[in-house]
Amino acid sequence: MSVNQLSTSNYRLFSDYHTHPQGHRVQHYTPALLQPWADSARKFGLTDIAFTDHDRYHAGIDFDEIDRLREKNSDLRIRAGIELDNDPIHSAAGRKWIEKHWDKLDFVQGSVHFLDRDDQMFDSVPDGAAQFAGRDVDAIYADYFRRVREMAATGLVDCLAHLDLIKIHGHRSGAEIGVIVNETLDFIRARNLAVELSTAGWRKPVNELYPSDRIIELAIEKQIPFTIASDAHSHAQLGDSYPRLAQKMAAFGVRQVCIFENHQRIVRAVCAEPPL
Ligand SMILES: [Zn+2]
Ligand SMILES: [Zn+2]
Repeated sequence: MSVNQLSTSNYRLFSDYHTHPQGHRVQHYTPALLQPWADSARKFGLTDIAFTDHDRYHAGIDFDEIDRLREKNSDLRIRAGIELDNDPIHSAAGRKWIEKHWDKLDFVQGSVHFLDRDDQMFDSVPDGAAQFAGRDVDAIYADYFRRVREMAATGLVDCLAHLDLIKIHGHRSGAEIGVIVNETLDFIRARNLAVELSTAGWRKPVNELYPSDRIIELAIEKQIPFTIASDAHSHAQLGDSYPRLAQKMAAFGVRQVCIFENHQRIVRAVCAEPPL
């Protein structure tokens, strides 16, 4: 990695493209549920946020309510989005819902939360760690990234969320991660998708940004664009650890992020310094 001289004081991270107003149950979109997110965004200096509740809670999403929120908060860009995962029970319905509402959605992100157990997300903390016990971690990594490629291949996602979530409990593959992930990154590039930089990893046992430095480096080489996100499950978490994220981006010379409007990707500068 070439470390350059970018200063984080010139960074303004204005977007957060992974948020869960409903948390972990169906809660119908109402002003009472959504307005605090707009208020927090403003408080934290964010001007462009995407609601991306899990597809299994799609019944709570109300596009008219998002429109009303936009009208009341015209200083903010509020994107209608969803997080599609590989839930073996619910995601078939989620995919249908996304197809039906594609034109109303600005942004869909794809993620893999399930391995070979139908009844438990492997990223449940701490219970999901049991899914790794006594198993070949290299094989689990290979299986995970195969599932990520399947998600990318659905044609229903604009971006891949928390790309190396498989490290969440701290399990590491024996092989160099670049070798494991290369095929997946090439696939993402060929599909012209974005990858998320998620600060959520800093709140998890692994205590590391999603994705790892080596994956960021490879993504930059392959010219894969990034969204930035907190994966907030409470409005108070919006933009969580963004100063630290700015440091990471400065270290890698990442000076742009992408935002989405009706699935159209738009690249925006987040660093005031001109290119070196
Ligand atoms: Zn997720
Ligand atoms: Zn999420």
